[in-house]
Amino acid sequence: MSSKFQVPGSKSPRFADLTTFRIGGPCREFIDCKTADELGAAVRELAARNENFFLIGGGSNLLVSDRGLDSVVVRFANSEPEIRIENDEIIVSAATALDDLARFSVENGIAGFACCSGIPGTVGGAIAGNAGAFGEQIGDLLISVSLLDHRGGERIVAAGELGFAYRHSRLQETSDIVLSARLRAARGDAGALRARRDEIMAIRVAKHPDWHVTPTAGSFFKNIEPTSKAERRQAAGWFLEQAGAKNLRVGGARPFDKHANIIVADPGCTARDVLELSKQMAALVRGKFGFDLQREVRLVGDFG
Ligand SMILES: Cc1cc2nc3c(=O)[nH]c(=O)nc-3n(C[C@H](O)[C@H](O)[C@H](O)COP(=O)(O)OP(=O)(O)OC[C@H]3O[C@@H](n4cnc5c(N)ncnc54)[C@H](O)[C@@H]3O)c2cc1C
Repeated sequence: MSSKFQVPGSKSPRFADLTTFRIGGPCREFIDCKTADELGAAVRELAARNENFFLIGGGSNLLVSDRGLDSVVVRFANSEPEIRIENDEIIVSAATALDDLARFSVENGIAGFACCSGIPGTVGGAIAGNAGAFGEQIGDLLISVSLLDHRGGERIVAAGELGFAYRHSRLQETSDIVLSARLRAARGDAGALRARRDEIMAIRVAKHPDWHVTPTAGSFFKNIEPTSKAERRQAAGWFLEQAGAKNLRVGGARPFDKHANIIVADPGCTARDVLELSKQMAALVRGKFGFDLQREVRLVGDFG
């Protein structure tokens, strides 16, 4: 198994081999692409076959049903980073691991990316979901993306057209694939950036499960958006903790003991266990505080 992206043992693997939750049934066909050329060729071939497909990156934000997906799955992820600096910009393949981008930027004294340290998944997945942490997100640094549509056509789109919001971009509503990104490369103090990255990695080790060891997809629910500009976003984990969610357990699914908004999967856990637990967690918050939590993790497949 690669340390960044799971490598499946068969041609039509189970989603359990492709996601950090290590849950999910089989897919019909699996195509693994590491470069834009490989991805373009695969997409054009699928278009010629009139075949739809589901795209994944690192599989770190997905809960896939136990039945899997009766569809082709295309993965765009590469353990070898493809990153370069040109003038005042970083150009990176969307298949590159987000943490490789964070490390590269810190090593090269480029500010803004340390917040992405330790977030699993690819740059493409991060742009699609506007990933980030500590109040900063990747959309803030983006200049433009190169996109591939499902028929294999490419175009450049400016960041302003992607409708970035908290853990959201318009890419979540289209089938466009991010091939590569141009990001702002502002100079920063290399020592301070290294210290920030070390600090963030230490916080993650202290508060989050290590997904290489403990199956999870990170925060299950989004934090709560402020109702006015005077307020800050509030942590879903705080509301879950206050509502007593940590006492819940469904089959092999339970909230992580150090973070109530992270669901972890013990051996034998099913996607149904996780979904049912998440419903019970949301019901506790609704009962105590009177509002509905919004899912951050994407549900894929039929949960019947
Ligand atoms: C332990 C842990 C900690 C986490 N911490 C954070 C955190 O601090 N902040 C945060 O924001 N998230 C966090 N996450 C969630 C997750 O890592 C991010 O959402 C990540 O950006 C998802 O990227 P991915 O490549 O794994 O996407 P996937 O899970 O593979 O896919 C997610 C969605 O993105 C789409 N997608 C993937 N690649 C592309 C592409 N190239 N072009 C277009 N769409 C694409 C997929 O179709 C899918 O709809 C955490 C997860 C774990 C397991």
